[in-house]
Amino acid sequence: MEAETKKSYSEKDQDYLWHGMKPYQGNGTPLIAESGKGSWFTDTTGKRYFDGVSGLWCLNLGHGQEEIIEAAANQMKSLAYFPLSFGHKPAIDLAEKLSELLGGGYRSFFANGGSDANETAFKIARQHHKQSGNPEKTKIISRYRAYHGNSLGALAATAQANRKIKYDVNVPGFVHIPPPYAYRSSFGSYEEDDLRAAEYLEQTILWEGAETIAAFIMEPVISGGGVIHPQSDVYYKKVREICTRHNVLLILDEVVSGFGRTGKLFGYMHGDDFYPDIITLAKGLTAGYLPLGATCVHESIYQSFKTNGSTSHFRHISTYGGHPASCAVALKTIEIIEREHIVNRVAKLEQNVLRRIRELASHSFVGEVRGVGFLYGIELVANKQTKEPLPDEAVKAIVAACQKKGLIIGKNGDTVPSGGNVLIIAPPLTSTENDLTFLVKTLNEVFSKTNKEASSY
Ligand code: PLP
Repeated sequence: MEAETKKSYSEKDQDYLWHGMKPYQGNGTPLIAESGKGSWFTDTTGKRYFDGVSGLWCLNLGHGQEEIIEAAANQMKSLAYFPLSFGHKPAIDLAEKLSELLGGGYRSFFANGGSDANETAFKIARQHHKQSGNPEKTKIISRYRAYHGNSLGALAATAQANRKIKYDVNVPGFVHIPPPYAYRSSFGSYEEDDLRAAEYLEQTILWEGAETIAAFIMEPVISGGGVIHPQSDVYYKKVREICTRHNVLLILDEVVSGFGRTGKLFGYMHGDDFYPDIITLAKGLTAGYLPLGATCVHESIYQSFKTNGSTSHFRHISTYGGHPASCAVALKTIEIIEREHIVNRVAKLEQNVLRRIRELASHSFVGEVRGVGFLYGIELVANKQTKEPLPDEAVKAIVAACQKKGLIIGKNGDTVPSGGNVLIIAPPLTSTENDLTFLVKTLNEVFSKTNKEASSY
């Protein structure tokens, strides 16, 4: 019998693994990670990379956090699994801790991740209104360019055409409005943009009929859609007022912006008088070590689930949502964030190092550099006057050139209206000054080379 030839991981990857978000590339060389330390990982060829996107914006404390690993192992040793139709200590402790971090008065329902947490939020919003004398309040308003998850409800709230176009996402009851996006303002001048984007929310509520709107969901900073955020806190303030005025629940999707990513513990803390009725969390909640999502709901909403008799409870459960090991990991993650003053560290290092990324705006094909904390977007254009997006191939070439130099960055996948032309930078929150300097320097080197070629775009 002929000796079986052993396939390499690269070959097996091509044969067996289905990659998300990437076109099929039969001849491409896949990047296969093997180990990680801090903000860096090593692939199966021994090449090292700086992870400039924290995995998928989740590996916030980097690789090798021994305390987190121990917390998971210890929890598995004492109680491997228990469902949350009952209770267990790590879930109760975590729910208490989250309420404290949110300023008190919140109750947590645990899920598997961000999509699941958002689905949970939509169901809670609808059931709450049904049980509070407003049975027609069912519609969810969300914003163009937002990403809220991959399951059908969360995808219906997601408003990025290219993620939906092949899947007939005809889920009724979802309405989209534009976000404040001063660079490509839908509303006029930079100054007016925040105000008019907020007013558009109120106009939409009225046009749809306030009695039909259950909730408005938004990311404080749109992440995967291209790092889009208001220029001032006027937007946040107005949105809160409008939601309160029309009894529309404000759901803040802090799956990315939570736990220090934007230089505040939660993204909503960038606004005065801005607070959620429901906040959804995942990713940084466990620093990416285990899957977990949370839907934290204000007690005023929870009341309608307990005061209307035996049929008013929430008919929703997930096998792994709130897994004991995931909750133990989340508690340890939060302990480290607090003990190591990670949020202040992010705010300080952004000012002292990462902000240099803004200097990249001087390159001929950079339209705008925007962001906050350790979450930056670099919008690339073929023409600074017309703002015509840089062609997709050119954007991909930049991402590939960075990878060649040992730097992983992301890019938005949207095709409408500006064509996947925003590079996304979101390094681990524990990255050192040297790490961040490498990040900015490498981008500058790649951009300088691209400048020379840009005349052909
Ligand atoms: N919400 C936001 C803002 C996200 O960026 C993501 C994922 O990237 C999700 C929700 C969905 O989270 P998950 O992939 O854990 O389902």
